[in-house]
Amino acid sequence: MILEQTGKICDGFYSTGYHFMPAFLMISKTPVLFDAGVTAIGPKYLEDIKTYLGDTDRLGYIFLTHSHFDHCGACPFLKRKIKGLKIAASARAARVLEKPSAVELMRTLSSTFEKTFKDIMGGEDVSFNSVAVDLILKDGDELDYGGGWKVRVIETPGHTKDSLSFYIPRIKALIAGEAVGVYNHHGIQPEFSSSYIDYMASLEKLATLDIDILAMAHVHILTGDDVRKHIRDSIESAVSFKGRIENYLDMFSGDSERVVETIFREDHDETQALRQDKKSFLLNLNAKVRVIAEKK
Ligand SMILES: [Zn+2]
Repeated sequence: MILEQTGKICDGFYSTGYHFMPAFLMISKTPVLFDAGVTAIGPKYLEDIKTYLGDTDRLGYIFLTHSHFDHCGACPFLKRKIKGLKIAASARAARVLEKPSAVELMRTLSSTFEKTFKDIMGGEDVSFNSVAVDLILKDGDELDYGGGWKVRVIETPGHTKDSLSFYIPRIKALIAGEAVGVYNHHGIQPEFSSSYIDYMASLEKLATLDIDILAMAHVHILTGDDVRKHIRDSIESAVSFKGRIENYLDMFSGDSERVVETIFREDHDETQALRQDKKSFLLNLNAKVRVIAEKK
């Protein structure tokens, strides 16, 4: 089954915010939120957390899949609003989240959304600033949050160097950020922005897990057989996207800029601006072309 909505996924596991930018809530004894999208959606996450937890101060942690603005943007806002909230991420992500140049880039990328969502932000100060990570996560960590809810940490680099995936054994759910790609109007868009080899190795690693629920970075939640199919298709789509980049590099005598322009024209869908913001789409596409061009 493929769900495209927020709300209850199964007992104790919810999608909050908006379906194109979800944050997943695990209602364990100490509840955990996975990712916290763009700054502008902060008030909506907070509202949903209140709906599901009653008292927002019950939320113990935000676990971050990686340090992109559409995954950690609302952390500063939620930290300001929720007493004692802690942030958990990889050591690499922790360094990025304190780096002034990275913070500046995230503020710039967030501003488009802040304009779009002005009316629903209710005058709240959602501004992004550096995020101090309280808990450093690494591959193999297993954290117990009570009532049979555990979170297993799996390093899945390739989209970024700091990408982590989180597996919840109790419900066989995987929160993978962009380690499993995202959908666009062509099918699956691979996301090997930091390393093709790492991205493929991460997918192979995820393919060995027993997953009933795949909570994707944007829009889709897959269940059952659709999960296995998606991971297989993700591997195939990464191979074919790499081939496409290589063909264009040959066609344009190694001119990466022309390759980016061509693929952007073919793949970017203006009507999907909320899940495929132009600036970040181009940043990612540039990185993917660079990753392949450097290998040639
Ligand atoms: Zn990302």
